Amino acid sequence: MKPSVRTSVLMLYVLLICVEISSQNISPRKLEQIKAEVAGYKDIAKSIINHAVYGSAQNRSYERLALFVDTIGNRISGSDNLQNAIKYMYKALQDDKLQNVSVEAVKIPHWERGKESAMMVQPRRKNLAILGLGGSVGTPAEGITAEVIVVSSFDELHRRAEEAKGKIVVYNQPFVSYGETVQYRSRGASEAAKVGAVASLIRSIASFSINSPHTGWQYYENGVQKIPTACITVEDAELMARLASRGVKIVVNLYMGAVQHPDADSFNTVAEIVGSKYPEQVVIVSGHLDSWDVGQGAMDDGGGAFISWEALSLIKDLGLRPKRTIRLVLWTGEEQGGVGASQYYDMHKKDISNMDLVMEADSGTFMPLGMQFSGRPQARAIMSDIMQLMEPINITKLYDNADGTDISFWMEAGVPGASLLDDISKYFWFHHSEGDTMTVQNPIWMNLCAAIWTVVAYVVADLEEMLPR
Ligand SMILES: [Zn+2]
Repeated sequence: MKPSVRTSVLMLYVLLICVEISSQNISPRKLEQIKAEVAGYKDIAKSIINHAVYGSAQNRSYERLALFVDTIGNRISGSDNLQNAIKYMYKALQDDKLQNVSVEAVKIPHWERGKESAMMVQPRRKNLAILGLGGSVGTPAEGITAEVIVVSSFDELHRRAEEAKGKIVVYNQPFVSYGETVQYRSRGASEAAKVGAVASLIRSIASFSINSPHTGWQYYENGVQKIPTACITVEDAELMARLASRGVKIVVNLYMGAVQHPDADSFNTVAEIVGSKYPEQVVIVSGHLDSWDVGQGAMDDGGGAFISWEALSLIKDLGLRPKRTIRLVLWTGEEQGGVGASQYYDMHKKDISNMDLVMEADSGTFMPLGMQFSGRPQARAIMSDIMQLMEPINITKLYDNADGTDISFWMEAGVPGASLLDDISKYFWFHHSEGDTMTVQNPIWMNLCAAIWTVVAYVVADLEEMLPR
């Protein structure tokens, strides 16, 4: 960009900011004061970063996570493993000498996979790697044996509705993005049932595959027949699509021993650093403790949960005490749709005027790129300044649209929200599969993620005023 162009762009930008500020009644003088206040955290930010990335806390969140997932394993809602995980964390947070360590009771779904298998029996016998989708009903003991119809979209299914009757629908939808493609997992079974299918198999929602099925929760529509549903691998979905395109008849036997139990008792796990001046005002840092029943749940969401714990440990190590309370929440029942967090919101929404910022890391802890934020423009301007404190590690970008199922309840009610943005280019290689293990994690990335997470939580919790909203 030429300097003259840059100057006029800059002036336009300044003008826009002035218009924006005046329309929201924050005087430029006030904004200057807040800017100066944030800039005053430069040394504290540097000491947090140094301690997390180069100092004695280096690799701690990674090592804690490895010990945890190697000891407990994966943690699906309703399982003994999840109960053990909550007990483990309750003790670990107490041993870490954090304040107000507690558990808050909630009810969560309890679905159990049981034994399951699938075999293509025509045109030749081939074992299909599957994972039943969460919430699916099981099959009869002998399984379901039926001819397959392969479709690439709901539109194609509806066009060929007559053909689908009595068959197993195989969805071979291409991966566009998680947000767009996941609808085939979440409502594929009900859409198939509406046209008379007896079961449905979806191509895993994954951006890469080495014959790995990727599970996830699915929702039956009220009043629609509940049919068994599972995910298959990208490779097998494409194989069946090719066979079908040649006019070859495909028959599959699907067996699923899935059971839906009554809702189970569970807990959100909480610990705090109590604020020195406004203890009733709160910044939440969080991740979810439950996972799928495959792999180790090290990525989804062990990493997010453990950098959130790390934030409190780092602040405590450095002898810092913010004006407001920083509260760690390890959510339960996230994978079934933020079930633990939704009940937490109902129990605590009476204190919504004291909720300063809700933060969740639930998109991996790969190389961090910055922070995502949802809130008013004035709050965004402050967050953007806070991100400049990350200059020593050169990760200063603030993006829009904070993302996190568990914090969505607060954000929808107008509370500012933040989520960690990292390099998710490989996230959906491992997501909800046996591949989600400690091998995915990298201690250097986790150090950087923890440093950013901690600086943001601390500075927001320590500013003279809450974020505007
Ligand atoms: Zn997650």
